[in-house]
Amino acid sequence: MDAAEFRRRGKEMVDHVADYLEKIEERPVYPDVEPGYLRSLIPTEAPVEPDSYEDIMKDVERVIMPGITHWHSPNFFAYFPAASSYPAMLADMLCSAIGCIGFSWAASPACTELETVMLDWLGKMLQLPECFLAGTHGHGGGVIQGTASEATLVSLLAARCKAIRRVQLLDPKKSEAEILSKLVAYTSEQAHSSVERAALIGAVMMKKVPTDSLYAVRGEMLKKILEEDKAAGLIPFYFCATLGTTPSCAFDHIADLGPLCNQENMWMHIDAAYAGSAFICPEFRPLLNGVEYADSFNFNPHKWMLINFDCSAMWVKKRTDIIGAFKMEPLYLKHENQESGKTFFGLKLSQSIPLGRRFRSLKMWFVFRMYGLQGLQAHIRKQVGLAKEFESLVRADKRFEICAPVVMGLVCFRLKGTNELNQSLLKKITKSREIHLVPCQLSGSFVLRLAICSRSTEFRHIQQAWQHITQLAFELLNKNEKACTFQI
Ligand code: PLP
Repeated sequence: MDAAEFRRRGKEMVDHVADYLEKIEERPVYPDVEPGYLRSLIPTEAPVEPDSYEDIMKDVERVIMPGITHWHSPNFFAYFPAASSYPAMLADMLCSAIGCIGFSWAASPACTELETVMLDWLGKMLQLPECFLAGTHGHGGGVIQGTASEATLVSLLAARCKAIRRVQLLDPKKSEAEILSKLVAYTSEQAHSSVERAALIGAVMMKKVPTDSLYAVRGEMLKKILEEDKAAGLIPFYFCATLGTTPSCAFDHIADLGPLCNQENMWMHIDAAYAGSAFICPEFRPLLNGVEYADSFNFNPHKWMLINFDCSAMWVKKRTDIIGAFKMEPLYLKHENQESGKTFFGLKLSQSIPLGRRFRSLKMWFVFRMYGLQGLQAHIRKQVGLAKEFESLVRADKRFEICAPVVMGLVCFRLKGTNELNQSLLKKITKSREIHLVPCQLSGSFVLRLAICSRSTEFRHIQQAWQHITQLAFELLNKNEKACTFQI
Protein backbone atom coordinates (compact mmCIF):
# COMPACT_ATOMS: atom_id res chain seq x y z
CA MET A 1 0.00 0.00 0.00
CA ASP A 2 1.54 3.30 -1.05
CA ALA A 3 0.66 6.76 0.24
CA ALA A 4 -1.93 7.33 -2.51
CA GLU A 5 -3.79 4.13 -1.68
CA PHE A 6 -3.45 4.83 2.05
CA ARG A 7 -5.17 8.21 1.53
CA ARG A 8 -8.08 6.49 -0.27
CA ARG A 9 -8.39 3.55 2.11
CA GLY A 10 -7.91 5.76 5.14
CA LYS A 11 -10.86 7.94 4.13
CA GLU A 12 -12.94 4.82 3.48
CA MET A 13 -11.94 3.48 6.89
CA VAL A 14 -13.04 6.67 8.64
CA ASP A 15 -16.43 6.32 6.92
CA HIS A 16 -16.55 2.66 7.86
CA VAL A 17 -15.84 3.47 11.53
CA ALA A 18 -18.41 6.29 11.61
CA ASP A 19 -21.01 4.00 9.98
CA TYR A 20 -20.23 1.21 12.46
CA LEU A 21 -20.67 3.49 15.44
CA GLU A 22 -23.73 5.32 14.07
CA LYS A 23 -25.54 2.05 13.31
CA ILE A 24 -24.18 -0.02 16.18
CA GLU A 25 -27.58 -0.15 17.85
CA GLU A 26 -28.92 -2.31 15.01
CA ARG A 27 -26.50 -5.12 15.91
CA PRO A 28 -27.19 -7.61 18.71
CA VAL A 29 -25.01 -6.39 21.54
CA TYR A 30 -23.78 -9.87 22.44
CA PRO A 31 -22.41 -12.36 19.90
CA ASP A 32 -24.11 -15.63 19.01
CA VAL A 33 -21.04 -17.80 18.46
CA GLU A 34 -19.57 -20.87 20.10
CA PRO A 35 -15.97 -21.07 21.39
CA GLY A 36 -13.65 -21.89 18.48
CA TYR A 37 -16.03 -20.40 15.90
CA LEU A 38 -13.34 -18.36 14.16
CA ARG A 39 -10.76 -21.00 13.25
CA SER A 40 -13.04 -22.65 10.71
CA LEU A 41 -13.76 -19.33 8.98
CA ILE A 42 -10.19 -18.49 7.98
CA PRO A 43 -7.34 -20.47 6.37
CA THR A 44 -5.03 -22.47 8.59
CA GLU A 45 -1.93 -20.65 7.24
CA ALA A 46 -1.04 -17.02 6.52
CA PRO A 47 -1.32 -16.23 2.75
CA VAL A 48 1.80 -16.60 0.65
CA GLU A 49 0.52 -14.19 -2.02
CA PRO A 50 -1.00 -10.92 -0.75
CA ASP A 51 -4.77 -10.78 -0.23
CA SER A 52 -6.71 -7.80 -1.57
CA TYR A 53 -7.89 -5.03 0.73
CA GLU A 54 -11.47 -5.56 -0.48
CA ASP A 55 -11.33 -9.21 0.58
CA ILE A 56 -9.97 -8.28 4.00
CA MET A 57 -12.75 -5.76 4.57
CA LYS A 58 -15.37 -8.31 3.46
CA ASP A 59 -13.92 -10.72 6.01
CA VAL A 60 -14.22 -8.11 8.75
CA GLU A 61 -17.99 -8.44 8.42
CA ARG A 62 -17.95 -12.22 7.81
CA VAL A 63 -15.35 -13.32 10.37
CA ILE A 64 -14.83 -10.60 12.95
CA MET A 65 -18.16 -8.86 13.52
CA PRO A 66 -20.10 -12.06 14.39
CA GLY A 67 -17.69 -12.55 17.29
CA ILE A 68 -17.74 -9.00 18.63
CA THR A 69 -19.36 -7.97 21.90
CA HIS A 70 -20.29 -4.41 21.01
CA TRP A 71 -18.97 -2.44 23.98
CA HIS A 72 -20.04 0.85 22.43
CA SER A 73 -23.61 -0.16 21.77
CA PRO A 74 -26.07 1.92 23.81
CA ASN A 75 -27.44 -1.45 24.96
CA PHE A 76 -24.16 -2.52 26.56
CA PHE A 77 -24.43 -2.24 30.35
CA ALA A 78 -21.83 -4.77 31.50
CA TYR A 79 -18.64 -4.37 33.60
CA PHE A 80 -17.71 -0.67 33.59
CA PRO A 81 -17.51 1.58 30.52
CA ALA A 82 -14.70 1.44 27.97
CA ALA A 83 -14.24 5.04 26.93
CA SER A 84 -14.50 6.04 23.29
CA SER A 85 -14.57 9.33 21.43
CA TYR A 86 -13.71 10.55 17.95
CA PRO A 87 -10.95 12.95 19.09
CA ALA A 88 -9.22 10.05 20.90
CA MET A 89 -9.50 7.83 17.81
CA LEU A 90 -7.96 10.52 15.61
CA ALA A 91 -5.14 11.04 18.09
CA ASP A 92 -4.55 7.28 18.12
CA MET A 93 -4.15 7.37 14.32
CA LEU A 94 -1.51 10.04 14.68
CA CYS A 95 0.14 8.04 17.48
CA SER A 96 0.38 5.06 15.11
CA ALA A 97 1.81 7.26 12.38
CA ILE A 98 4.49 8.78 14.60
CA GLY A 99 5.06 5.29 15.95
CA CYS A 100 7.71 6.26 18.49
CA ILE A 101 8.57 4.04 21.44
CA GLY A 102 8.81 6.67 24.13
CA PHE A 103 10.81 4.98 26.86
CA SER A 104 13.03 7.97 27.56
CA TRP A 105 13.22 11.69 26.88
CA ALA A 106 15.72 11.14 24.07
CA ALA A 107 13.56 8.43 22.43
CA SER A 108 11.01 11.17 21.65
CA PRO A 109 11.08 14.30 23.79
CA ALA A 110 7.49 15.36 22.92
CA CYS A 111 6.14 11.94 23.96
CA THR A 112 7.79 12.06 27.37
CA GLU A 113 7.15 15.74 28.04
CA LEU A 114 3.49 15.79 26.91
CA GLU A 115 2.76 12.82 29.18
CA THR A 116 4.15 14.60 32.22
CA VAL A 117 2.25 17.79 31.42
CA MET A 118 -1.03 15.98 30.63
CA LEU A 119 -0.85 14.18 33.97
CA ASP A 120 -0.42 17.58 35.62
CA TRP A 121 -3.44 18.95 33.69
CA LEU A 122 -5.50 15.95 34.72
CA GLY A 123 -4.26 16.11 38.32
CA LYS A 124 -5.39 19.73 38.45
CA MET A 125 -8.81 18.80 37.03
CA LEU A 126 -9.13 16.34 39.93
CA GLN A 127 -7.78 18.92 42.38
CA LEU A 128 -5.09 16.52 43.47
CA PRO A 129 -2.84 17.95 46.17
CA GLU A 130 0.16 19.83 44.76
CA CYS A 131 2.51 17.09 46.02
CA PHE A 132 1.23 14.70 43.30
CA LEU A 133 2.05 17.10 40.47
CA ALA A 134 5.38 17.22 38.69
CA GLY A 135 5.28 20.89 37.72
CA THR A 136 8.81 22.12 37.28
CA HIS A 137 10.02 21.56 40.83
CA GLY A 138 7.77 18.85 42.27
CA HIS A 139 8.88 15.51 43.68
CA GLY A 140 5.65 13.82 42.61
CA GLY A 141 4.11 13.39 39.21
CA GLY A 142 2.08 11.20 36.96
CA VAL A 143 2.74 8.48 34.46
CA ILE A 144 0.43 6.67 32.04
CA GLN A 145 0.18 2.96 32.70
CA GLY A 146 -1.64 0.50 30.47
CA THR A 147 -4.14 -0.62 33.09
CA ALA A 148 -5.13 -0.18 36.73
CA SER A 149 -3.74 -3.68 37.35
CA GLU A 150 -0.29 -2.49 36.28
CA ALA A 151 -0.56 0.61 38.48
CA THR A 152 -1.45 -1.51 41.50
CA LEU A 153 1.41 -3.90 40.80
CA VAL A 154 3.92 -1.05 40.35
CA SER A 155 2.80 0.54 43.63
CA LEU A 156 2.97 -2.77 45.50
CA LEU A 157 6.46 -3.54 44.19
CA ALA A 158 7.68 -0.04 45.08
CA ALA A 159 6.17 -0.37 48.57
CA ARG A 160 7.78 -3.78 48.98
CA CYS A 161 11.18 -2.40 48.04
CA LYS A 162 10.78 0.55 50.42
CA ALA A 163 9.67 -1.70 53.31
CA ILE A 164 12.61 -4.09 52.84
CA ARG A 165 15.08 -1.19 52.85
CA ARG A 166 13.46 0.30 55.95
CA VAL A 167 13.62 -2.97 57.91
CA GLN A 168 17.20 -3.65 56.80
CA LEU A 169 18.24 -0.17 57.89
CA LEU A 170 17.07 -1.00 61.42
CA ASP A 171 18.37 -4.57 61.37
CA PRO A 172 21.05 -5.06 58.67
CA LYS A 173 21.40 -8.76 59.54
CA LYS A 174 17.87 -9.57 58.37
CA SER A 175 17.89 -11.15 54.94
CA GLU A 176 15.54 -10.00 52.18
CA ALA A 177 13.92 -13.45 52.14
CA GLU A 178 13.26 -13.32 55.87
CA ILE A 179 11.65 -9.88 55.60
CA LEU A 180 9.61 -10.87 52.55
CA SER A 181 8.08 -13.78 54.43
CA LYS A 182 6.74 -11.38 57.07
CA LEU A 183 5.45 -8.58 54.83
CA VAL A 184 1.67 -8.27 54.63
CA ALA A 185 -0.41 -6.23 52.20
CA TYR A 186 -4.09 -5.46 52.78
CA THR A 187 -7.10 -4.62 50.70
CA SER A 188 -10.87 -4.68 50.89
CA GLU A 189 -12.75 -7.94 50.50
CA GLN A 190 -14.56 -6.01 47.72
CA ALA A 191 -11.36 -4.99 45.90
CA HIS A 192 -10.81 -5.95 42.28
CA SER A 193 -9.12 -9.30 41.72
CA SER A 194 -6.14 -7.46 40.17
CA VAL A 195 -5.13 -6.31 43.67
CA GLU A 196 -4.84 -9.85 44.97
CA ARG A 197 -3.02 -10.74 41.77
CA ALA A 198 -0.47 -7.97 42.38
CA ALA A 199 0.34 -9.58 45.74
CA LEU A 200 0.62 -12.96 44.06
CA ILE A 201 3.06 -11.60 41.49
CA GLY A 202 4.90 -9.60 44.15
CA ALA A 203 5.20 -12.79 46.25
CA VAL A 204 3.79 -11.20 49.40
CA MET A 205 0.97 -12.20 51.70
CA MET A 206 -2.29 -10.29 51.20
CA LYS A 207 -5.16 -10.11 53.66
CA LYS A 208 -8.71 -9.04 52.90
CA VAL A 209 -10.27 -6.47 55.20
CA PRO A 210 -14.01 -6.89 55.91
CA THR A 211 -16.36 -4.09 54.86
CA ASP A 212 -19.33 -2.31 56.45
CA SER A 213 -22.97 -2.60 55.40
CA LEU A 214 -22.23 -0.33 52.41
CA TYR A 215 -19.32 -2.52 51.27
CA ALA A 216 -16.66 0.03 52.30
CA VAL A 217 -13.57 -0.45 54.49
CA ARG A 218 -13.39 1.78 57.57
CA GLY A 219 -10.30 2.72 59.56
CA GLU A 220 -11.23 0.67 62.61
CA MET A 221 -11.59 -2.49 60.53
CA LEU A 222 -8.05 -2.22 59.19
CA LYS A 223 -6.69 -1.16 62.59
CA LYS A 224 -8.01 -4.32 64.25
CA ILE A 225 -6.26 -6.62 61.77
CA LEU A 226 -3.04 -4.60 61.92
CA GLU A 227 -2.89 -4.94 65.70
CA GLU A 228 -3.33 -8.72 65.47
CA ASP A 229 -0.75 -9.08 62.71
CA LYS A 230 1.87 -6.90 64.38
CA ALA A 231 1.43 -8.90 67.60
CA ALA A 232 2.07 -12.05 65.54
CA GLY A 233 5.39 -10.60 64.28
CA LEU A 234 4.21 -9.73 60.79
CA ILE A 235 5.16 -6.50 59.00
CA PRO A 236 2.20 -4.59 57.49
CA PHE A 237 3.54 -2.56 54.56
CA TYR A 238 0.81 -1.80 52.02
CA PHE A 239 -2.88 -1.04 51.81
CA CYS A 240 -4.81 -0.70 48.58
CA ALA A 241 -7.98 1.32 49.07
CA THR A 242 -10.73 1.30 46.46
CA LEU A 243 -12.82 4.28 45.46
CA GLY A 244 -15.64 2.80 43.39
CA THR A 245 -15.45 -0.96 43.90
CA THR A 246 -16.20 -3.20 40.95
CA PRO A 247 -19.20 -5.03 42.41
CA SER A 248 -21.16 -2.04 43.77
CA CYS A 249 -19.13 1.19 43.37
CA ALA A 250 -18.50 1.50 47.12
CA PHE A 251 -15.98 3.97 48.53
CA ASP A 252 -13.46 3.03 51.21
CA HIS A 253 -13.08 5.68 53.93
CA ILE A 254 -9.69 6.98 52.88
CA ALA A 255 -9.83 9.98 55.21
CA ASP A 256 -9.74 7.48 58.17
CA LEU A 257 -7.55 4.89 56.49
CA GLY A 258 -4.91 7.33 55.26
CA PRO A 259 -3.72 8.63 58.65
CA LEU A 260 -3.63 5.05 59.94
CA CYS A 261 -1.43 3.93 57.01
CA ASN A 262 0.86 6.94 57.48
CA GLN A 263 1.17 6.22 61.20
CA GLU A 264 2.01 2.55 60.52
CA ASN A 265 4.54 3.40 57.79
CA MET A 266 2.39 1.59 55.26
CA TRP A 267 2.12 2.61 51.61
CA MET A 268 -1.46 3.58 50.73
CA HIS A 269 -2.39 3.12 47.09
CA ILE A 270 -5.82 4.22 45.87
CA ASP A 271 -7.48 2.30 43.06
CA ALA A 272 -10.26 4.47 41.61
CA ALA A 273 -10.23 2.72 38.22
CA TYR A 274 -13.82 3.61 37.30
CA ALA A 275 -14.93 6.32 39.72
CA GLY A 276 -11.82 8.48 39.40
CA SER A 277 -13.11 10.28 36.30
CA ALA A 278 -16.09 11.63 38.26
CA PHE A 279 -13.81 13.51 40.66
CA ILE A 280 -13.49 16.25 38.03
CA CYS A 281 -17.04 17.21 39.06
CA PRO A 282 -17.08 19.29 42.27
CA GLU A 283 -20.11 17.36 43.57
CA PHE A 284 -18.11 14.07 43.55
CA ARG A 285 -14.73 15.48 44.61
CA PRO A 286 -15.43 15.07 48.39
CA LEU A 287 -15.21 11.30 47.86
CA LEU A 288 -11.52 11.84 47.12
CA ASN A 289 -10.86 13.71 50.38
CA GLY A 290 -8.04 11.89 52.13
CA VAL A 291 -6.01 11.40 48.93
CA GLU A 292 -3.41 13.66 50.55
CA TYR A 293 -2.45 10.69 52.79
CA ALA A 294 -1.90 8.35 49.84
CA ASP A 295 1.47 7.48 48.36
CA SER A 296 -0.04 6.69 44.98
CA PHE A 297 -3.35 7.19 43.23
CA ASN A 298 -4.66 5.68 40.01
CA PHE A 299 -7.73 5.76 37.80
CA ASN A 300 -8.56 4.81 34.24
CA PRO A 301 -9.42 7.69 31.90
CA HIS A 302 -9.97 4.81 29.45
CA LYS A 303 -13.03 3.83 31.45
CA TRP A 304 -15.07 6.97 31.85
CA MET A 305 -13.21 9.96 30.42
CA LEU A 306 -13.73 9.49 26.68
CA ILE A 307 -10.10 8.43 26.09
CA ASN A 308 -9.95 5.10 24.27
CA PHE A 309 -8.14 2.13 25.83
CA ASP A 310 -5.39 2.08 26.99
CA CYS A 311 -4.82 5.01 29.29
CA SER A 312 -4.51 4.50 33.04
CA ALA A 313 -3.31 7.54 34.97
CA MET A 314 -1.10 6.99 38.01
CA TRP A 315 0.37 9.61 40.31
CA VAL A 316 2.93 9.21 43.07
CA LYS A 317 3.87 11.62 45.79
CA LYS A 318 7.55 10.76 45.55
CA ARG A 319 8.75 9.72 42.12
CA THR A 320 11.96 8.49 43.67
CA ASP A 321 10.04 5.72 45.53
CA ILE A 322 9.09 4.18 42.20
CA ILE A 323 12.22 5.05 40.29
CA GLY A 324 14.30 3.68 43.16
CA ALA A 325 12.54 0.34 42.88
CA PHE A 326 12.79 -0.11 39.11
CA LYS A 327 15.77 1.86 37.86
CA MET A 328 18.02 0.13 35.29
CA GLU A 329 20.45 2.07 33.20
CA PRO A 330 22.15 0.11 30.43
CA LEU A 331 24.44 2.20 28.25
CA TYR A 332 22.12 2.10 25.22
CA LEU A 333 19.36 3.87 27.19
CA LYS A 334 21.58 6.63 28.56
CA HIS A 335 21.53 10.12 27.07
CA GLU A 336 22.88 13.49 27.98
CA ASN A 337 19.56 14.95 29.17
CA GLN A 338 18.86 11.92 31.34
CA GLU A 339 18.38 13.86 34.53
CA SER A 340 17.42 17.24 33.18
CA GLY A 341 17.57 19.02 36.51
CA LYS A 342 14.13 19.54 37.92
CA THR A 343 12.00 17.27 35.78
CA PHE A 344 13.62 13.83 35.71
CA PHE A 345 12.12 13.40 32.22
CA GLY A 346 14.69 10.81 31.37
CA LEU A 347 13.40 8.48 34.06
CA LYS A 348 9.86 7.95 32.76
CA LEU A 349 10.71 4.41 31.77
CA SER A 350 11.61 3.62 35.36
CA GLN A 351 8.02 4.22 36.44
CA SER A 352 6.41 1.39 34.54
CA ILE A 353 7.02 -2.29 33.85
CA PRO A 354 7.38 -2.36 30.04
CA LEU A 355 10.24 -0.54 28.38
CA GLY A 356 8.28 0.39 25.27
CA ARG A 357 5.61 3.05 25.71
CA ARG A 358 3.12 4.34 23.16
CA PHE A 359 2.46 8.07 22.71
CA ARG A 360 -0.74 7.75 24.75
CA SER A 361 -0.74 11.32 26.02
CA LEU A 362 -1.64 12.50 22.50
CA LYS A 363 -5.18 11.18 22.91
CA MET A 364 -5.45 12.87 26.31
CA TRP A 365 -4.36 16.15 24.76
CA PHE A 366 -6.89 15.90 21.92
CA VAL A 367 -9.76 14.91 24.23
CA PHE A 368 -9.02 17.52 26.91
CA ARG A 369 -8.82 20.26 24.31
CA MET A 370 -11.83 19.24 22.24
CA TYR A 371 -14.19 18.57 25.16
CA GLY A 372 -12.79 20.97 27.73
CA LEU A 373 -13.36 20.34 31.42
CA GLN A 374 -17.01 21.32 31.02
CA GLY A 375 -17.60 18.81 28.23
CA LEU A 376 -16.06 16.01 30.28
CA GLN A 377 -18.12 16.98 33.34
CA ALA A 378 -21.27 17.01 31.19
CA HIS A 379 -20.50 13.46 30.02
CA ILE A 380 -20.11 12.17 33.59
CA ARG A 381 -23.23 13.98 34.81
CA LYS A 382 -25.35 12.70 31.92
CA GLN A 383 -24.36 9.10 32.65
CA VAL A 384 -24.95 9.46 36.40
CA GLY A 385 -28.37 10.96 35.56
CA LEU A 386 -29.23 7.93 33.42
CA ALA A 387 -28.27 5.57 36.24
CA LYS A 388 -30.55 7.53 38.59
CA GLU A 389 -33.39 7.22 36.04
CA PHE A 390 -32.86 3.47 35.91
CA GLU A 391 -32.79 3.31 39.71
CA SER A 392 -36.19 5.08 39.83
CA LEU A 393 -37.66 2.55 37.38
CA VAL A 394 -36.40 -0.34 39.53
CA ARG A 395 -37.63 1.23 42.78
CA ALA A 396 -41.10 1.71 41.29
CA ASP A 397 -41.48 -2.04 40.75
CA LYS A 398 -42.16 -3.91 43.98
CA ARG A 399 -40.88 -7.22 42.58
CA PHE A 400 -37.34 -5.79 42.47
CA GLU A 401 -34.92 -4.32 44.99
CA ILE A 402 -31.91 -1.99 44.80
CA CYS A 403 -28.93 -3.64 46.49
CA ALA A 404 -26.42 -0.80 46.97
CA PRO A 405 -26.48 3.01 46.93
CA VAL A 406 -26.45 4.41 43.40
CA VAL A 407 -23.69 7.01 43.64
CA MET A 408 -22.39 7.12 40.07
CA GLY A 409 -23.30 5.26 36.87
CA LEU A 410 -23.82 1.78 38.32
CA VAL A 411 -27.10 0.26 39.52
CA CYS A 412 -27.07 -3.01 41.49
CA PHE A 413 -30.50 -4.62 41.58
CA ARG A 414 -32.22 -7.98 41.76
CA LEU A 415 -35.57 -9.68 41.77
CA LYS A 416 -36.72 -10.22 45.35
CA GLY A 417 -36.26 -13.94 45.73
CA THR A 418 -33.64 -16.63 45.44
CA ASN A 419 -30.22 -16.48 43.82
CA GLU A 420 -31.37 -19.17 41.37
CA LEU A 421 -34.24 -16.94 40.23
CA ASN A 422 -31.85 -14.07 39.53
CA GLN A 423 -29.37 -16.39 37.81
CA SER A 424 -32.19 -17.56 35.52
CA LEU A 425 -33.15 -13.98 34.79
CA LEU A 426 -29.59 -13.06 33.82
CA LYS A 427 -29.34 -16.17 31.65
CA LYS A 428 -32.46 -15.09 29.78
CA ILE A 429 -31.12 -11.55 29.37
CA THR A 430 -27.80 -12.77 28.00
CA LYS A 431 -29.50 -15.24 25.67
CA SER A 432 -31.76 -12.53 24.26
CA ARG A 433 -28.66 -10.54 23.15
CA GLU A 434 -30.72 -7.32 23.27
CA ILE A 435 -28.88 -5.90 26.26
CA HIS A 436 -25.78 -7.08 28.06
CA LEU A 437 -25.25 -7.13 31.85
CA VAL A 438 -22.94 -8.99 34.22
CA PRO A 439 -23.63 -10.04 37.80
CA CYS A 440 -21.88 -9.58 41.12
CA GLN A 441 -22.22 -11.04 44.56
CA LEU A 442 -23.17 -8.81 47.50
CA SER A 443 -23.65 -10.24 51.00
CA GLY A 444 -24.12 -13.70 49.51
CA SER A 445 -26.79 -12.54 47.06
CA PHE A 446 -26.58 -12.89 43.29
CA VAL A 447 -27.05 -9.34 42.03
CA LEU A 448 -27.44 -7.85 38.53
CA ARG A 449 -25.27 -4.85 37.69
CA LEU A 450 -26.35 -2.28 35.14
CA ALA A 451 -23.58 0.19 34.33
CA ILE A 452 -24.17 3.10 31.97
CA CYS A 453 -21.40 2.51 29.48
CA SER A 454 -21.81 3.85 25.97
CA ARG A 455 -21.41 7.51 25.04
CA SER A 456 -24.54 7.05 22.92
CA THR A 457 -26.82 5.68 25.66
CA GLU A 458 -29.91 7.85 26.05
CA PHE A 459 -32.96 7.70 28.30
CA ARG A 460 -34.90 5.70 25.69
CA HIS A 461 -32.27 2.92 25.91
CA ILE A 462 -32.69 2.82 29.67
CA GLN A 463 -36.46 2.57 29.28
CA GLN A 464 -36.13 -0.16 26.64
CA ALA A 465 -33.65 -2.06 28.83
CA TRP A 466 -36.03 -1.92 31.76
CA GLN A 467 -39.01 -3.02 29.64
CA HIS A 468 -36.94 -5.91 28.37
CA ILE A 469 -35.82 -6.97 31.86
CA THR A 470 -39.34 -6.77 33.28
CA GLN A 471 -40.76 -8.72 30.32
CA LEU A 472 -38.23 -11.53 30.88
CA ALA A 473 -38.84 -11.40 34.64
CA PHE A 474 -42.58 -11.64 34.01
CA GLU A 475 -42.11 -14.76 31.85
CA LEU A 476 -39.84 -16.29 34.48
CA LEU A 477 -42.10 -15.56 37.44
CA ASN A 478 -45.14 -16.79 35.50
CA LYS A 479 -43.36 -20.01 34.58
CA ASN A 480 -42.30 -20.52 38.21
CA GLU A 481 -45.84 -19.86 39.40
CA LYS A 482 -47.27 -22.36 36.91
CA ALA A 483 -44.69 -24.93 37.98
CA CYS A 484 -45.72 -24.41 41.64
CA THR A 485 -49.44 -24.68 40.82
CA PHE A 486 -48.76 -27.85 38.85
CA GLN A 487 -46.82 -29.35 41.77
CA ILE A 488 -49.70 -28.56 44.15
N1 PLP B 1 -9.90 -1.84 39.85
C1 PLP B 1 -11.21 -1.66 39.76
C2 PLP B 1 -11.95 -1.03 40.91
C3 PLP B 1 -11.91 -2.05 38.61
O1 PLP B 1 -13.23 -1.88 38.53
C4 PLP B 1 -11.19 -2.65 37.55
C5 PLP B 1 -11.88 -3.07 36.33
O2 PLP B 1 -13.02 -2.85 36.10
C6 PLP B 1 -9.81 -2.81 37.70
C7 PLP B 1 -9.19 -2.41 38.86
C8 PLP B 1 -8.97 -3.45 36.62
O3 PLP B 1 -8.77 -2.50 35.62
P1 PLP B 1 -7.70 -2.74 34.46
O4 PLP B 1 -8.38 -3.56 33.43
O5 PLP B 1 -7.39 -1.35 33.97
O6 PLP B 1 -6.53 -3.41 35.05
